[in-house]
Amino acid sequence: MKYYRYVRWMFLALGLAAVIGLTVMNVYSLHALHENEVQNSVEKQKRQLLEYTNQVRSRFRYPVRSLWQLDMEELGASLVSPSDVSKDLLLIIDETIRDGLFSDIYLSTPDCTPCDRHGDPIWHYQKEIGKFATTTSYNRLVSDGLAITRTRMSALVQDYRWSTRVIFETHNSMTVTLINPDSREVVAYLLFVIDQDYLVTSYLGPKLAETFGTGEEAGIIVWLHDWTKNEVLATTAPEVTYSYQKVDFIQNFPDLLNNWNLKATFTANPAIAASRASLNRNLFVLGAAMLLLTGAFIFMFFTAQRERSLAQRQALFLANVTHELKTPLAVISAAGENLSDGRVTDPARLKSYGSHIFNESLRLRTMIDRLLDVARYNTKNIRIRKIQTSLPDFLRDYLKIKNSYLESYDVTVHLAADDSVPDIEADPSDLQSILDNLIDNAVKYSPDEKYVGIRIRNGGTYVELGIEDRGVGIPKELQKYIFEKFFRVEDALTAHTRGHGLGLSIVQDLAVRNDATVSVNSAPGKGSVFTIRFPKYETPETEHRAPIPTSNSRKEQEPEHVS
Ligand code: ADP
Repeated sequence: MKYYRYVRWMFLALGLAAVIGLTVMNVYSLHALHENEVQNSVEKQKRQLLEYTNQVRSRFRYPVRSLWQLDMEELGASLVSPSDVSKDLLLIIDETIRDGLFSDIYLSTPDCTPCDRHGDPIWHYQKEIGKFATTTSYNRLVSDGLAITRTRMSALVQDYRWSTRVIFETHNSMTVTLINPDSREVVAYLLFVIDQDYLVTSYLGPKLAETFGTGEEAGIIVWLHDWTKNEVLATTAPEVTYSYQKVDFIQNFPDLLNNWNLKATFTANPAIAASRASLNRNLFVLGAAMLLLTGAFIFMFFTAQRERSLAQRQALFLANVTHELKTPLAVISAAGENLSDGRVTDPARLKSYGSHIFNESLRLRTMIDRLLDVARYNTKNIRIRKIQTSLPDFLRDYLKIKNSYLESYDVTVHLAADDSVPDIEADPSDLQSILDNLIDNAVKYSPDEKYVGIRIRNGGTYVELGIEDRGVGIPKELQKYIFEKFFRVEDALTAHTRGHGLGLSIVQDLAVRNDATVSVNSAPGKGSVFTIRFPKYETPETEHRAPIPTSNSRKEQEPEHVS
């Protein structure tokens, strides 16, 4: 049996450990899942940034893609004067200029060296007439673009693969070098002036919003940033001010728009927010389940402890009761035996035997009544009959009846009743039992000065009844147990005092039945005060007043105190 209990606890502990283990694993995997989701989302956004720059690149190349198909031999031959330019090239140029991305298109032959001050004439495309015309008034942007391309091309001369190449002068211009792969000679340079206004406001800006969404909720904020000027050209979230500290990732444009890049900060997007919310929900449920389980474990542990100590006390109680029942029974049977034998004939002795039998049977009856009382309170189905009661009047009448008992123990009683206290509503029989038990205890646990102070006070919404003694008092740490069934303070005095630890538990049951509360204030060696608070009587419909207890009525009612 003993081992069985240990095994039960062991399995419970194992079960709890398993639940804790599973919970920890769950929390870990949920967290890992969430982290993974965050990581995936960030990776996806990085890929989108790269894709964005690639798309921009092909957007620049798209209008000039047909240049690759031109016959360079033929084209070279046609580039004698602006009016001779081959029709095929003019067609491509015309189509390109219609795209808002480029504002002007210039053509320079390899033998001409443009420069802003002393430049050779170059050809400028006149979109109105669809032809090239010679010009010397071109700005620095054009000459720089062409100069850069020439320098780059001469540097690349060793390794370029003899095909048309595109070179960018940052965000200002794009130059296409047309190369004749057979003769390995440059045929012409075509410079496209980039319309920056169109590029930023009509293309890159709207494309940012279209690709990444707008606002912080999109999960990413992207700034198109001119890092040479530290200037934001376009953004997906204008309400968020750019700062370098916010940047999580930088994406450059591949060999174009060199002064510009994309700077991004990753915020929680709806999918991540949902994943976090689900993580939090799961953690909450797990936490609650864990708490419940731990609570249940602790509850079971303490309930089992309590039940064990209750069972121990009940066993002790049974032993005591049996002993106390046997004592008067032994006296009765011995006296009865003597009488039945006819050995006692002396009238005085006969009378003494008779009174012994009578007194012991009374004792037996009282004891049985008390036991029945306990059983009755335990079943909790006694009917309650609450009536309007004046506590001071009730107490005065009660003390009259109790007088002989109190005198027999030489008890000093002091009643301090405030007669203006409102009436209460209580069952008179319950009230009597409460008083009996408390006063009995006050007498029992006062070995030296037997004093009972009774105070009735108006507490506003309640009426307070205090029973004070100057007895041994109760240690603070045990005060919470004294209202439990069968609990007795283990000391020398209690050991020699009759009682079974039921009186105060009955007092509390009765108080609760009458909507009252009981509390104790006590210190060892300084006596105790038991306080009962009754709610004041509210609805004056009832006509009855509490019957004044009489010695007979006490007998008629159910027995009321058990100690
Ligand atoms: P019993 O008196 O039969 O032991 P009770 O339920 O009436 O049982 O009281 C429980 C315990 O509380 C008592 O055993 C006693 O130790 C302590 N106690 C109760 N009333 C007093 C009191 N007025 N002064 C000191 N100790 C008390």
